This record gives sequence, structure tokens and C-alpha cells, in this order.
Amino acid sequence: MSKLVAFAAIQGAYNIVSKAEGIYKRALEQYGPDQKLEFPNTAYYLPIIYSLLGIPVKTLGDAKKPLEIARKLLPPHVKNRYHLPYLGPTLDAGMAALFAEEIVEAIRYVDDPDFYHPGEECDVENGKLWLGAADDVIMRKRGVEFVDGTAPGFAAIVGAAPDPETAKMIAEEYQRRNLYVFMCANQAGTTFAEQLVEAGVQVGWNTRLVPFGPDISAAVFALGFANRAAMAFGGIKPGDYRKILLYNKNRIFAFVNALGEVNAEWAANAAGAINWGFPTIADTDIPEILPTGICTYEHVVAQVPHDQIVQKSVEVRGLKTVVTKVDIPVSYGPAFEGERIRKDDLVVEMGGGKSQATELVEMADMDEIEDGKITVIGKDIPDCEKGERLPLGIYVRVAGRKMQPDFEPILERQIHHLINYAQGVMHIGQRDIAWIRLGANAVDKGFTLKHIGQIIHDMFHKDFGSILDKVEVTLYTNAEDVERFTEKARAIYKMRDERVEGMRDEDVEIYYSCTLCQSFAPSHVCVISPERTGLCGAYNWFDCKASYEINPTGPNQPVEKGECLDPKLGQWKGVNEFVYKASRQKIDHYNFYSIVYDPMTTCGCCECIAAVLPSCNGVMTVHRDYTGDTPCGMKFTTLAGTIGGGVSSPGFVGHSKYNIIQRKFLAGDGGLLRLVWMPKALKEELREGLRKRGEELGVPDLIDKIADETVGTDEASVLEFLKKVNHPALSMEPIMG
Ligand code: SF4
Ligand code: ZN
Repeated sequence: MSKLVAFAAIQGAYNIVSKAEGIYKRALEQYGPDQKLEFPNTAYYLPIIYSLLGIPVKTLGDAKKPLEIARKLLPPHVKNRYHLPYLGPTLDAGMAALFAEEIVEAIRYVDDPDFYHPGEECDVENGKLWLGAADDVIMRKRGVEFVDGTAPGFAAIVGAAPDPETAKMIAEEYQRRNLYVFMCANQAGTTFAEQLVEAGVQVGWNTRLVPFGPDISAAVFALGFANRAAMAFGGIKPGDYRKILLYNKNRIFAFVNALGEVNAEWAANAAGAINWGFPTIADTDIPEILPTGICTYEHVVAQVPHDQIVQKSVEVRGLKTVVTKVDIPVSYGPAFEGERIRKDDLVVEMGGGKSQATELVEMADMDEIEDGKITVIGKDIPDCEKGERLPLGIYVRVAGRKMQPDFEPILERQIHHLINYAQGVMHIGQRDIAWIRLGANAVDKGFTLKHIGQIIHDMFHKDFGSILDKVEVTLYTNAEDVERFTEKARAIYKMRDERVEGMRDEDVEIYYSCTLCQSFAPSHVCVISPERTGLCGAYNWFDCKASYEINPTGPNQPVEKGECLDPKLGQWKGVNEFVYKASRQKIDHYNFYSIVYDPMTTCGCCECIAAVLPSCNGVMTVHRDYTGDTPCGMKFTTLAGTIGGGVSSPGFVGHSKYNIIQRKFLAGDGGLLRLVWMPKALKEELREGLRKRGEELGVPDLIDKIADETVGTDEASVLEFLKKVNHPALSMEPIMG
């Protein structure tokens, strides 16, 4: 760091520490030393102080010591300010500033509990922009991406761009490279985050553009996040400051972009960040320091033009990023996966209960299809009016020397995240319950249905080039075509489901895991046995086996089930051990066959959700397409929102449609005979299977004894009906034990 910057940094650190001492003194008088001091919902206290000094600050009184350490770290005022011999004092000053700022930010939580709005998304419309410290749930979910490489690093942006359009350009360039952008500080009252909002960019953890806070002190949220990752994923002990900082230098590829005039306090923070090995790249003329020392390359690089700042930053930090190349008019990559398409931005919607949308991948012979051919039959987006609902059929045909029909469902399940990666496009669900929303920011750039085909073609080749050589996609939008296509697809889904029909859980020693949904529900792990298909309905035991064959390090791993701990409820030692690891210590056991006792975890894409109806001594279930009320008092969407986050919720469990007619369905609670209510449409869809299973269970007319919405949607009228038809659940032992 040049002498001038070093001097500014030291001066800034003095200011920051003195200010913090003032705020601390006032808070102590106001609240007393026993006042709780914390960032909400974290086990890492004030993480910079905790990780580097090993001091767990829990109260205002506890903050005294780190603040004293900060004061002591400030280098003595040097007489000749231009002759600092080495970086050391500047780095110490930067560290002192960060300790002090962390205490200042923690006191802010006491002074103004509503200042920050922690969560995955920003609620900008209601003025809730600043997120403050990430809680541990978000830190685990997002932090792991830095460790496994899904996110190569983060850019800490300090200040503001000259205008909203420039801010947008820089942010999107980082998104395309899958980096996170952490935002703090303001430039004369203007912030980068507010500029993004003004330019119509969605901010929040889910788009990787994270507004931490409007002051420079919010920089501690970014650096604290990095240190928590080092403790959580690197297993480094609090207080081992050398290892924490080295971990960051070597593993977390981060850097600072200073936008606008760099004042003394910013310089102090930049100096602090150098301790982490995070360099600063600025757009203004601040003295540079280029020779390498602590950072991998330069420490401070100045006067970088805005259209080069992303490229330059990535270079300086020594970071290799890949931009996924897909031939479509919008940006593409995992940073866009979590985007929402809000009502006002919605241009065209397909599926989601309002029109039919179906996806099918089928294998073809090599000479039957033409690689790269994409056909839209019917209306495309330019012919649509704003707000229009289209039916949609996505028919993907693939061929390849290594391709097998067993691989079809695995390829089909990829469509979900592959389409979601496109900016301005949202995809939910699978099979015949797909749901796609196209937003104005995609349609205005010329995105059409053809591009959905393009994405599938390009990404299938990229990700599955080892098994396929040709991909052809047909998209249907005429209602009759979609109807016909859906019929065909349903027959194929049924065939796939039935492949496990004859198999029993007792017959195999290996189950398979699925962790595909962890990007949405971080602690969620499906373990799939022959008689317990994946709750999304898209993966059964065979599918997982095939998926493991294609990609031995992928999301479907063999799980040795091991010793059976409970044959009735369905619990195995090997499964528990696997789930504990794969959920990152969040879930240590669950039961395959019970809704009452520690049921499996549920994620948001389940086909159905079952709920106990205590007064009926039974269970109801509802599928995604049914939008009406249910006897448990919640609609499907409310149920999914309540239990779909990857937790085990006794009394509720997600499952696939097909699972209802599998022999082990809720076997631990009395099985299918417990089912007292389900939507009529679902009953019809499963009619044949329900009839068969009823016969096996000695109640051939079971299907007629199960109530539906025509009977009622409250427990009382369901119970009345059950009594009338003498439903078997009424004479079973009490469901709640
Ligand atoms: Fe895999 Fe389960 Fe998600 Fe289906 S619901 S994709 S089986 S993790
Ligand atoms: Zn899911």
C-alpha cells in the first residue's frame, strides 16, 4: 500500500475506533453491561472478533475487551508520515477498524431492531432493503457454495456507481460469472444497492446481489461471513487467526471494489481486507500499490474504467471464472436460479394449474432425430399478449451410443434447473405439473420458447456429452397438441413408476440418496427405496441407480441401509448416518413409513403433502394441482410454504403421487387404510391402483370410502361421511399414539 493510502488508512482507523468508543460508552450508560449483544441467529457471536480473537461477545460488557484490543492495535502516530517502513502497522490499523465496526453494527441491532431485514430476499417494495448479517441458515446454505466451487467468490462493492445503468452492468457481469456481490457504504448518500433497485435489478441472497448495509461499517458483514465459512466448513477453531486468514486467502476468492472517492475510513477498511488477502480495485485515482505481498497479486489497483472493472478484479484476485455459453439473448447461470418473476413483470405463464405444462425426455434412434433442431408448433411468445396463459409441451428427444431408456427420467429432471438459470425465466415443478413464468426482462430482450429448446440442447450436450450425441426439442402450444402429448407422457411416467412395482424394500441392501433439491432446501436429503419413491415423483429407485451410473459423483449416491432399527416405521442405521452427513448435521434420523413419528424431510417440489386429521383418526393428502381448501385448514401452497424447507415436521409429510399406492405408504401408522380424504382428481388419477391396493387390504371399495372435496373441506363433514360409509380408519388404534 502506498504511503499516502497507508497514512489515510491509519487516520481512518483512529476515527473509526474513537467513534466506536463513543457509541459504546453511550450504549453502556443507556442499556447497562448485561444488555445482550449479538447478530441474530448465529452461533458465531460477532464473527470477526470471535474467529480472530477467540472472544465470544454475548453482552455489551463483553465488548469492552475487543474494543480495548482495537485501541491497542492502532499504530503510534508516526512523526514522518511518509516513512512507514512496512505494511504491518497499516494492516493492524485496518484490523482495529474492523473490530470496532463490528461492535458498532451490533449496537445498531439494539438501538434499532428494525434497521436490518435478514432473510433470503429483500422486500424492496416495503422499504426493506438492507439485510445485515446473514443468519446461520443462510450462511450454511450459501457458504457451502464457496467451498464446493458453485460460487467462485465474492465482490465486496463499497460506494456507488456513477449511475444506475453502470451499477446494473457491473452487477450482471458478476452474476454471469457466478460471483456474489456484497454491498455496503454510500457515496454522498447514494448506494450501489439502491441504484440496482432503480435499474430494475432484483437484489437479495437469491440473486447473489446482497445489500448488507448503507454504511462502510457494514463491510464487517462480508468479512464476518467469510470467517464463519472458514469455521463452519474449514473446521478452524475460533482464535486461530492465522489459519482463518490463510483459509480466506487460499479458499475464498474475494476482493473489494471501491466505487467513488475513497475517504480515510474506506482506506482503513481496505487495509483491513488485505489481512484476508482481499485486494481493492478502485475506479478513482488513489495511489496504487502493485508489488505483491500478502495478496496473491496487487493490493490496490486504481482508476479502472467501469467496463473493465469486473475483468480486472477477477484477474487481480487470480480467479478463474467460467461464463456458461448458451445461445440465448439473456444472461445464464446459477446466479439467476433464485430469481422470482413478480406479477407486474410477468409476460407469459405456462402451467402452474392455470394451463397444462408437461415435460418429457425420450430416447430415439440415432437416425430418427436431428441434433440441434428446435421446433415450436403453435403460438410463440411474440404472438402473445401480456399476461397470457399458454399450454406447453416440452418434448425432448435424445440419442447417443451410450444412451439407455433408464436415463430418460434423469435427463428430464435437469430441465428444471437448466431453465431456471436463464435470467428472467422461472421454472417450478416437473413432469405434468411444470410451471414456467417469463418476465419482461427476458421477453424484452427477445427470449422466446425456441430458446427454451436451445437451453436444453446446449446444456444437455455440455453436461451429458458422455452419454448423448443428439438432442432435438419440440415445443407444443396448441391446447389439443399439449393434451395429446400429456396423455402420452402420463403413460410413460406410469410405466417408469411401475418398474419398481414388484420390488420390496426388504429385497435390496442399497438405497439411493438424492440431494438435487439442496439448492432450495439446504438440509433436505431424499433417500429413495423401492417402496418410497422421491417425493417430487420424478425419481424412483431405478432412476437413482441409473443416475449414479451416469455420474458417480453426482447427487444420487448409493446408501448402504445397514442395520434395521425399526422395521415398522422404516429406519436404518446406515441411512441415518448418511442423512446426518448429507444434511450437514441438521437431521440425524428419520422414518420412511411414518407421518407421525419423525417423518422424512420435505422440500418444496413434492407432488403431494399428507397431513394428520386428528378427529378423523386418519390422514388426508393433497396434490399440487388442487388449489382449493382442504380439511387440515391449509391449501397446498400454504402447506408447502410451511413444511417445504427441508425439515421433518411430525403430522405432515411430502410424498409422490405414486407413493400413495405403494405398499409401504405410511405403513408405520396403519398404511393406506388411514387415508380419509384426497382431492377427487387425484383419486381418479390413481383409481386403478387404489382399487388394487384396497383389494389387497381386504377393503375392495376403499376408494369410495375416501372423502373428497365434494363431501367437504372441514374435518367435521369428513368425519360424518366416514361414519356413514364405515371407513376402516375409525376402528383403528388412535393415530397419535
Ligand atoms: Fe431429488 Fe428428492 Fe428433490 Fe426429487 S424431491 S429431485 S428425489 S431431492
Ligand atoms: Zn425439491
